[in-house]
Amino acid sequence: MPENEVQLAMIDGRDALLMVLVKPGSGDGMVAVDAHCNGLDKMQAAKILMHIARSWKAEAERCVKCGGPGGVHDPACIVHPDHADGSAR
Ligand SMILES: [Zn+2]
Repeated sequence: MPENEVQLAMIDGRDALLMVLVKPGSGDGMVAVDAHCNGLDKMQAAKILMHIARSWKAEAERCVKCGGPGGVHDPACIVHPDHADGSAR
């Protein structure tokens, strides 16, 4: 399938409590966000989204060497966060 081919997704959202669609925006690096909640109040929806965001952020920041989260390393890890180049000086 060509990379730029339009794909149509059929999603049954009738029982969705929260839905967030992020699509490419009009400018370079921009996104368009379409968010709805139904049956959840916005504070509950925000807590769910923040939980997901924290989880994804921790995953993204995990050390590739020791698996430690967000700058926390196993004492034996050779990556030293104090060193910008990641060296073990
Ligand atoms: Zn590490």
